[in-house]
Amino acid sequence: MSDKHNHPLPDQEESNLKVQGAIPQPPSVNKNASMRIRRKRRTLFSIDEYVGGILNGNRSILSQAITLVESLLPAHHKTAQDIIERCLPHAGNCIRLGITGVPGVGKSTFIEAFGKYLTDKGHKVAVLAIDPSSQRTKGSILGDKTRMEELANDPNAFIRPSPSAGSLGGVAQKTRETSILCEAAGFDVIIIETVGVGQSETAVHSMVDFFLLLMLAGAGDELQGIKRGIMEMADSIVINKADGDNYNKATLAKASYQSALHLFPPAESGWTPKVDTCSAIEKNNVDKVWEMILEYTAKTKDNGYFELKRKQQSKSIMLDTIDQQLKSAFYQDSQVQKEMSFIEENLLDENLSSYQAAAKLLDIYFQRCKLRED
Ligand code: GDP
Repeated sequence: MSDKHNHPLPDQEESNLKVQGAIPQPPSVNKNASMRIRRKRRTLFSIDEYVGGILNGNRSILSQAITLVESLLPAHHKTAQDIIERCLPHAGNCIRLGITGVPGVGKSTFIEAFGKYLTDKGHKVAVLAIDPSSQRTKGSILGDKTRMEELANDPNAFIRPSPSAGSLGGVAQKTRETSILCEAAGFDVIIIETVGVGQSETAVHSMVDFFLLLMLAGAGDELQGIKRGIMEMADSIVINKADGDNYNKATLAKASYQSALHLFPPAESGWTPKVDTCSAIEKNNVDKVWEMILEYTAKTKDNGYFELKRKQQSKSIMLDTIDQQLKSAFYQDSQVQKEMSFIEENLLDENLSSYQAAAKLLDIYFQRCKLRED
């Protein structure tokens, strides 16, 4: 099969933007069709093979393990958890970076330039995304094949689109677990991208060592819809598109963000957030951003904050997991599901207050837990 322009297609095994097989869904009405699909997508590897493959840096096995992490099927969930458990001791030896900014600020152009700079220096870079609004079929923030094409074809980079739409908590958890697998596979720089428009920045901030906010100069409102809270989370603000006619504006914006950041209370890390400019498209100053990150890492490893933050993150992941599992156990309980609409009706007819309705449903659930114990 030849391409009429004589451009070879990227090797499917090596290309990071290979479209992943869809996550298998519960059986459909057409039994025969679903049997065929299931047979084709049946787990091919044992847990030992998955773990061995990941630790050997086998990208194809890594991709398939991530697909299990993202799967909604309970059987896949169990296998994925076993793989993660075994990979955990090999994870953590990396720097985790969060990158955010409004759509159009140049995140993918920046990550491509930055990622290439790092792979040229011998690093292995994994790029993950958190975009709870995305659906793989509709193209997520990293699902568009034209994004980061050069990096996608770099054997030392691995790009994975956001898990498909779901609750932010669920999407974030899957991204964290994916990160563990990538780290165990030897990726030492993990970049987690998110769109700077909602709550997902907080989720990303809670799982990275360094948080970078990309901004534009002179785009009307200085804060560009980026809330003060997000600026406060940033370890660095980088003003992108500092090139051509925009160069002077970017330099002025740098000074104004610098003085804005001075008004924030000192960070627990002992690090004063830094502001710089860059041109992702001209690959200008991308090296400075990396130097800044190295400086941050050296400083916070020295003063103990780096480890402390990771420990705090582990604790909050534990608490988040408990929250999510309690919630899902409650909503999946058959008796709760059965009573829910009846109690809702009573609430809407004003026979019950919201608190009474909630208490009734919780009572049903707790009674069921007790029965199960006995
Ligand atoms: P994202 O939505 O934040 O991922 O932004 P993109 O990386 O897709 O970039 C949005 C647009 O800005 C594209 O047309 C890029 O070519 C352009 N762009 C990105 N970085 C730069 C830059 O450093 N300078 C200039 N002049 N344009 C840029």
